[in-house]
Amino acid sequence: MLKHRGIVIHDTDCGEYWAGRLEKSGIDTLGVHPAGGIDAHLTLAACADFVKTEDFLSFRDRLNRAGIRVEFEMHALSWLLPRDLFSKHPEWFRAAENGERTPRFNCCASNPEALEYLRERTALLASLFPSDTRRYHFWIDDVAEAKCHCPACESLTASDQALILTNAMAEGVRRTDPEGKTAYLAYCETLNVPKSIKPHPAVFLEFAPIARSFTRSLFDPADEKNAAQVNNLPGLLAFFGSRDAKVLDYWVDNSLFSGWKLPPKKFELNAGVCRADVLGYAERGFESVTSFGCFLGENYRELWGDAPVEGYFRILSEA
Ligand SMILES: [Zn+2]
Repeated sequence: MLKHRGIVIHDTDCGEYWAGRLEKSGIDTLGVHPAGGIDAHLTLAACADFVKTEDFLSFRDRLNRAGIRVEFEMHALSWLLPRDLFSKHPEWFRAAENGERTPRFNCCASNPEALEYLRERTALLASLFPSDTRRYHFWIDDVAEAKCHCPACESLTASDQALILTNAMAEGVRRTDPEGKTAYLAYCETLNVPKSIKPHPAVFLEFAPIARSFTRSLFDPADEKNAAQVNNLPGLLAFFGSRDAKVLDYWVDNSLFSGWKLPPKKFELNAGVCRADVLGYAERGFESVTSFGCFLGENYRELWGDAPVEGYFRILSEA
């Protein structure tokens, strides 16, 4: 039995139109997501301004009155550790495979000063994005794999390094919200179970099988792509525990189906796959299930009419 059911939409879609659709949806959680990619630190900064506006606050109030809690999900590392610090503190940043430090993506996971800076900035970020669920989803950069190859980091896997950074963020979140919990994003290279680092007690698993296929259930072993995504799932659940474990899937992510490029393509939900997946997740002990639901707002309606998301809401309510 799922505890929480949600959808994640772009901050730029937060307004009257989605509020009206969500009020009738039966879901209890809305994730607000500034777009990812290499400019994620810029969309994050714009979103931090937007969430202070009257427009957003009244949107949030309206959802809260309908029993929907608002939280935020974002790639944050390049905002947390601004790249212009590179000239002053190159050792805070990542060593590429050739050993040279680079400001491109993430940071060194072994530099104590970088980690302390990360904690302080995360405390600030948590105050900019107060979460109704007390869950914070501040992810490392939006890149398949960018780990540090300095001598101190070299023996750590991408997942170990991601967990070190996530643990530091969890400590930072707790400086602002003493009950706050922080997501470890298992996605691309970090789908592997960490080997030599243990999670902070306030860290929970967020599983996002971005490279999956949608023609068959994620748990259909005949689908090679899906099998590769769920290969390590039992290990991840054993490692992080199923308490607070959350799925972030893509069944209604029309930004993915549109190649992350506007205009949005016409969207249709594969309800059979979605239903089988949601049941599979619930059976494995996940407490929360959500999906990106981007590119389905007003710009979708102008081209194609109201996006068919009711089927998704129904499947979640039945689970
Ligand atoms: Zn390093």
